[in-house]
Amino acid sequence: MERSDSQYAQAKLAQLKSEYQVEVVADWGDGEGGWMPGGWARTELDRLHSAIDLMVEAMGGKEKFVHHLGGVTVRKSDIGTHGGEALAHRVSLSIKGAFSSWTVVHEFAHAWDANYGWRLSRQLEKYTGGFTSPFLSSILKATGLSDTERFRAGKIAGRFGRRPGCNRAGYFYGDRPSGSNWSFNRIEDFAESVAMYIGWERNNDLSQHASNRIVRYQLKNGEKDSFNIVDNWMDYARRFYPDNGDYTKTKRWQFIDDLITGRIAMD
Ligand SMILES: [Zn+2]
Repeated sequence: MERSDSQYAQAKLAQLKSEYQVEVVADWGDGEGGWMPGGWARTELDRLHSAIDLMVEAMGGKEKFVHHLGGVTVRKSDIGTHGGEALAHRVSLSIKGAFSSWTVVHEFAHAWDANYGWRLSRQLEKYTGGFTSPFLSSILKATGLSDTERFRAGKIAGRFGRRPGCNRAGYFYGDRPSGSNWSFNRIEDFAESVAMYIGWERNNDLSQHASNRIVRYQLKNGEKDSFNIVDNWMDYARRFYPDNGDYTKTKRWQFIDDLITGRIAMD
């Protein structure tokens, strides 16, 4: 943060706190050696605010957002190779480089799930017909039936661990998620489903990313997607590509819609 932006930043922080109960930990200010810029850029505060607004809008207003999240403290910190991390009432964004709107929504979705004791992701797992079984997963991996190396993800096309149960967690996802890899589990599934729901065909900051997640399954095997990943897309299309390419036809889209419109209770 530049000193010239500090007043703007203070006003933004006050607004985020009063409207959404979101507290940004300011790491900038006057220090002994003069101005300390910290890890935040002014544009990032704007991006954070816009991404929260997208969630607020999808949830049906500020009161709902505050109720679902229960207040969140956001800080920038060194969290290794991750873009972000979240627990109930706490979101950390990587100090290394700028974060995307997608990452903000993904991490806030974790904070929402965590505020309900991680039960929302369990509800999603059940609703979409999935289950978690490390035992079954280990059989797939041991017998060479998984799209991985033995007991770990590979680094080449067709070996990233995208098939159901072929991930670290032994998560057998049901229906069609927008993607899956070695790190996939019901918690990541929930966060990605929220981001997909908010971005899908709404012409907002998440929409291009959401579209990119789906259109790649129309690529040929060995082609590179917009995330710079080469994979055997045709082989995976039936697990991920929704009917007519319409993500609103998936159980995940329906689940998030039911959740925020109150047709499904958050228990
Ligand atoms: Zn995550």
